[in-house]
Amino acid sequence: MKMRQIPFQPYWTVFFLLALNLTLTPLKAAEHEEMLIVTSFYPIYIATVNVAGGIPDVAVKNLTKPFTGCLHDYQMTPAEMVELSRAAVFIVNGGGMESFLDKVVKQLPKLKILEASAGIEFIKNNADGEPNAHVWVSPTLAQKQVATIAAKLAELDPGNAAAYQRNAAAYSTKLEALRTKMHEALQSLPVRQIITFHEAFPYFAREFDLEIVAVIEREPGSEPSARELAATIETVRKTKVKALFAEPQYPAKCADTIARETGATVYTLDPGVSGPLTPNAYLTIMEKNLLELCRALKPPKAEIPAKTR
Ligand SMILES: [Zn+2]
Repeated sequence: MKMRQIPFQPYWTVFFLLALNLTLTPLKAAEHEEMLIVTSFYPIYIATVNVAGGIPDVAVKNLTKPFTGCLHDYQMTPAEMVELSRAAVFIVNGGGMESFLDKVVKQLPKLKILEASAGIEFIKNNADGEPNAHVWVSPTLAQKQVATIAAKLAELDPGNAAAYQRNAAAYSTKLEALRTKMHEALQSLPVRQIITFHEAFPYFAREFDLEIVAVIEREPGSEPSARELAATIETVRKTKVKALFAEPQYPAKCADTIARETGATVYTLDPGVSGPLTPNAYLTIMEKNLLELCRALKPPKAEIPAKTR
């Protein structure tokens, strides 16, 4: 039996190599048909689909599931690595958000990687001095990311350069309108101190001149210890902050405890790391954030003129 199988072996090897080749590098065949752009996670997908969506023969796919949230410590699945091997370009946020990037560079050395945060100066986290990657939460920096994505895609795919730039300009106009609206609504609020649950909002706070007086958990899932919880309750009492902002993606278990102990109220602020895969999603999320901030930071009731019926 063994002897008879030997002549077949080279065929199987060739077949196997061909199959492997088809799985890993269909780029050559695809070059004429479709340019596949893969994005790392939700906010980068939303930015990119506004730049590259609707262009013939250009496809935008998000690597991770839209409810994955931030990619801190995210481990890529083998299926995602195969998906990525089909991409003409991989668009990432950068700033350490994609902690698996070293692995990608090693396994797919030829893959073009576009960093949407290129040229943006990162704020360093108070807690660990590491760069904070949540730049897109600031509408101004989201606009900058869109411009970077469009410029780099135009370079990579000159045939569609005009389309990328046209799309980016249209989306940028919407972001600009959002930014103006948010600045106008938030600049007059007398209360500007907030407490957030994770370090997702420093760029947002800087943009709108809000002061984050405390961050309860540095990263989602790291519930504070009893001592940390007590310290946070103390901080909230001392600063007299009345608004705690939890994130819809990570219902913080300790939020109610802090609220109960301090008389503060828990609101939600969405860093835009998950949601529907629709182009206007970022705009919708920020509109909701604006309403919630106005609700949370409005002047005390006594200062609002009483309405007569
Ligand atoms: Zn995060």
